[in-house]
Amino acid sequence: MKRMVKLLLAAALAATAQAAVADHWSAPQEPFAIYGNTYYVGTHGVSSVLITSKAGHILIDGGSPDGAAQIAQHIRQLGFKVEDVKYILNSHEHVDHAGGIAELQRLSGATVLTSTAGAAVLRSGQPSKADPQYTSSAAMTPVAKVQALDDGAEVSLGDLRVRARYTPGHTPGGVSWTWQASEGGSTANMVYADSLTAYASAPFQYRDNTTYPQARDDIERSIALVGALPCDILISAHPEFSDLWTRMDKAATVGHAGFIDRTACRAYAAKGTAWLAKTLAQEAAPPQAAQWKESPHLEQLFAQQGVTGTFVLHDASADVYTVHDRARAQTRFIPASTFKIPNSLIGLGTGTVASVDQVLPYGGGKTARPEWAHDMSLRDAIKISNVPVYQGMARRIGLAAMRSNLQTLNYGNMDPGTAVDTFWLKGPLMISAVEQTVFLEKLAQDRLPFSKEAMAAVRDITRQPGAADLHAKTGWGSGPVKEVDLGWWVGWVMKDGKLYSFALNIDIPDGAADKRVSLGKAALQALGLLQP
Ligand SMILES: [Zn+2]
Repeated sequence: MKRMVKLLLAAALAATAQAAVADHWSAPQEPFAIYGNTYYVGTHGVSSVLITSKAGHILIDGGSPDGAAQIAQHIRQLGFKVEDVKYILNSHEHVDHAGGIAELQRLSGATVLTSTAGAAVLRSGQPSKADPQYTSSAAMTPVAKVQALDDGAEVSLGDLRVRARYTPGHTPGGVSWTWQASEGGSTANMVYADSLTAYASAPFQYRDNTTYPQARDDIERSIALVGALPCDILISAHPEFSDLWTRMDKAATVGHAGFIDRTACRAYAAKGTAWLAKTLAQEAAPPQAAQWKESPHLEQLFAQQGVTGTFVLHDASADVYTVHDRARAQTRFIPASTFKIPNSLIGLGTGTVASVDQVLPYGGGKTARPEWAHDMSLRDAIKISNVPVYQGMARRIGLAAMRSNLQTLNYGNMDPGTAVDTFWLKGPLMISAVEQTVFLEKLAQDRLPFSKEAMAAVRDITRQPGAADLHAKTGWGSGPVKEVDLGWWVGWVMKDGKLYSFALNIDIPDGAADKRVSLGKAALQALGLLQP
């Protein structure tokens, strides 16, 4: 059965990465009232909002193809009829926000409204070549009854008035939506803000491109616009980006006023600005500066052992990458237990743990391995890759701190999703072998934005026994992103005063996890960096 599911997944998804992401998008969420006639009917990972009136309802966003059925169910659960939805509005033309619209349109007969650029994509189901994520965008079921609205135009239905505010930049067709909702004699300015993340799929660059040259200007203008909107209650296209779950918890005790945060739009805009700055900085310093060498030694090793995978070594002083299978070395996978290295740093950096010798609880109960069922320090826990001890620490760090620290570390796709204790084991966090070498090199060279004490402590607990100055960590993932299990071995080694960071990841179809370390050591030996 498990194998069947995996095969189906592999067949259904063009990119392995999308499995983990899709999983996170459609995580279940009970619907709830936000304010007045406005309700949250989306999934846990992707927002969808219902605005109701006696004359019919307006729905903003249709979620992913998987999410549509949940949205329809949520509308019914709240006591409304899907058939009474007269308009479906869209934030932007990506599959996670628009992929479910065709089905919801079919169920309701509603007219679909969005920007001119967004309407073209919805009608055809084909991503636009101007989209910054064009090369990784999925096609969608074409949507019937789509009409384009001008910037500033108002959708009216009975006494409802919802205004379209064009906010392009994340996509060419992005729109944010504003309206007012009243409750108990008070009126709140409601904002459904589109994504403001300058997120590009290679080869697109925000700083310079020919397919959407005004992308950077657009996103800067959209960020400024959202930051300046009259804004009492913000719902962002991805709910966690506007801390909706924190506010929902607050509303559970103080009532719907708990959703009000008049700083939310400014804070959301500030995140967009920070993201854009990071994207532009990365684009200004492309990794092409390094030289790449395919190694016949490495190729031979992988062939001899009959292993599918990659090994990449970065010579920090010469800035040369020696690699077996460069394409795979640049492909992101779940980090599994290699994440214990950044997790240790974040635990120390946030003060969640005082030192790597402080004994931490494993939480009790049954553990996957008997040796994990003991309270222990990070120093001991990392040696036996104790999952529950690190999960407990992650829960105490919390999702918001985890997210901002992943960004500070520039760790892979920096996405902790919504489950603070499994995101590195099941996704959506992903990192490539090359990105692992960059991260580890900075740790080895004291160049991460963490205290020197924290970095020294994490270097200390990753040191491997033996003569060479070798630091390493294993990982073993069996999450949804690969058909077969994935094994990691990452670290760095010093030779003649020079630093070499490395990362290996291999398919483990047969449970032979030992090959991670044996093959990794053989690779370091073949490259003359480790004594046989
Ligand atoms: Zn998007």
